Amino acid sequence: MKEIKKQRILTGDRPTGKLHIGHYFGSLQNRVKLQDEYETFILVADLQALTDNFSNPEKVAQNIYETTLDNLAAGLNPEKCTFVVQSMVPELAELTMFYSNLVTVSRLQRNPTIKTEIGQKKELFGSEGESVTYGFLGYPISQAADITAFEAEAVPVGEDQLPLIEQTKEIVRKFNSLFKEVLIEPEAVISEHKRIKGLDGNAKMGKSLGNSIYLSDNEETIRLKIKGAITDTNKIHKNDPANPEICMVGYYHKLFNKDNLETVYSECRKGERGCVSCKKELADNIILYLKPIQERRKYYEERPELVKKILIEGTKKARLITKNTVKKVKEAMKINYFDE
Ligand code: ATP
Ligand code: MG
Repeated sequence: MKEIKKQRILTGDRPTGKLHIGHYFGSLQNRVKLQDEYETFILVADLQALTDNFSNPEKVAQNIYETTLDNLAAGLNPEKCTFVVQSMVPELAELTMFYSNLVTVSRLQRNPTIKTEIGQKKELFGSEGESVTYGFLGYPISQAADITAFEAEAVPVGEDQLPLIEQTKEIVRKFNSLFKEVLIEPEAVISEHKRIKGLDGNAKMGKSLGNSIYLSDNEETIRLKIKGAITDTNKIHKNDPANPEICMVGYYHKLFNKDNLETVYSECRKGERGCVSCKKELADNIILYLKPIQERRKYYEERPELVKKILIEGTKKARLITKNTVKKVKEAMKINYFDE
């Protein structure tokens, strides 16, 4: 019987910090669901993390381990998916070099994700983006190299990443039409929770934005963070009616208290629900929800040698694929000078 080849997924995270509930609902949960159906590769994108942390490589190095732990904690099974360290796969840098000739500087400058991120990192890139580096501006090209090197058909990401996948598609089409149909055009897979907001009401919970509930936060930290979440500022007294739609506590109840949501919202609107007890109920639910995730994290935390092995073996396996892609790319361009 002919074996049906599974479609491939490439996804990952920048090792810039521990992962938070935005990652969980925006991407990790989808990865866990898809790992049975697809051949899954999880990239620990340290080269990409360096593009805005170049003076602090220790931070990136430390977070390689944390990012991997969080993925394993979320339920990714190392028997089913392959973990890959980006900087240990030189073919990715090679492809980036080739593809950089297919993208104009103005196209990169107009990329909505890049524009937003430059705006968020004013202390690094200047108030008008005047200090933005070539490396940061070019990270969408390196992301295209990652996706195509693995010949990934699907990329589960949060909504903020969509313009980057679009950029990859453009590169693929250009390369294929210029040379030969060798690169695969990927599709983004967006979860039903496209973008999780931050505790401060920011449109995106982001690990570089200081507005996150981390998957590994302990009970006390979670309670403290929820206490400080932005609520409807018109509500002063316990029994004032309020609008849960403009309250971050109301917002997170949608994720962690689905069964009781109608009661929470109607009590809040009628002024029958004080913020203190509402916040306590939410924190209790988050703590309960994160319990199995934190237990799995502890299992791997206690086995650092196992995590190291997962990364080393995974990266080795990955290179078999990426080397083959570089070979195909060079053949297509007829720059495989000394091949037999
Ligand atoms: P950084 O601020 O360092 O860029 P980040 O929080 O944006 O960190 P990434 O490692 O860049 O995290 O993103 C990893 C994946 O998680 C991406 O697919 C991204 O779209 C998704 N993601 C990150 N934050 C959120 C969020 N708040 N809601 C939904 N998805 C998210
Ligand atoms: Mg990001």
